[in-house]
Amino acid sequence: MRLVTYQSADGPRVAGLRDTMIVDLNLADAKVPSCVKQLLAQGPEGIRRAEAALANGKPMPVESVSLIAPIPRPEKIICIGLNYADHAREGGHEPPSVPVMFAKFSSAASAHQRPIVLPRLSQEVDYEAELVVVIGVGGRHIPKDAALEHVAAYCCGNDVSARDWQLKRPGGQWLLGKSFDTFAPFGPALVTADEVPDPGNLPIQLRLNGEVMQKSNTNQLIFPVPDLISYVSGVCTLVPGDLIFTGTPSGVGFARDPQVFLKPGDVTEVEIGGLGVLRNQVVAEK
Ligand code: MN
Repeated sequence: MRLVTYQSADGPRVAGLRDTMIVDLNLADAKVPSCVKQLLAQGPEGIRRAEAALANGKPMPVESVSLIAPIPRPEKIICIGLNYADHAREGGHEPPSVPVMFAKFSSAASAHQRPIVLPRLSQEVDYEAELVVVIGVGGRHIPKDAALEHVAAYCCGNDVSARDWQLKRPGGQWLLGKSFDTFAPFGPALVTADEVPDPGNLPIQLRLNGEVMQKSNTNQLIFPVPDLISYVSGVCTLVPGDLIFTGTPSGVGFARDPQVFLKPGDVTEVEIGGLGVLRNQVVAEK
């Protein structure tokens, strides 16, 4: 099942995709929560109920609603740095021996077809194609062998990065360079985990204006999805709707010669096998 969230007059509501139509799952079955986080918290039983609602509910044209980020305000956006060896090396780093983790503010969350806004304060905005993991049932100290039971869904993500802020400011902090508004688009929809038999073997690529800039497979992840969930859940409690951006392969703009940075009018597309295409146009900040 593919889940999206749309903006209604009463606030965000979760919906399922059926071909080119969407079905409001809570309107179809009042037992299905209207909030995506509450739905994901119910685990596989909630997903099964939502699937029945999707099959029976009244479809609406997707153009008739305004889609927003599939999780409108994730509590946490956890990001993994240097998780593909070729990308670590292109940035001048040895592949890490333990996961490198940082965060984006949840206010950076954005959606398929929403613009990436180039901040006035940065001249070096870059793209990063990433597999995004969406937590369902939360937990702390999750063992690796149970980790995938805590994943509700997967989708494509773009870890948009202001390199001048990430790499050239005192303190060595990545937080602000990764957290400008619109810098965490993900989607186009959440693909429930039952439709993703192996998150560790998915082709991933990023196209910039149609040209392939990054091309790899999640089988190249240094720390695969279960390791990341287990590791970070030793530090903090994961909750429904938390996102994990799992890292990007080589081919990012700042490591190219000549360097490539995003400019107004560009279109980025992240495509992951079975998860669709996340497309975003780049615009200047007004
Ligand atoms: Mn990244």
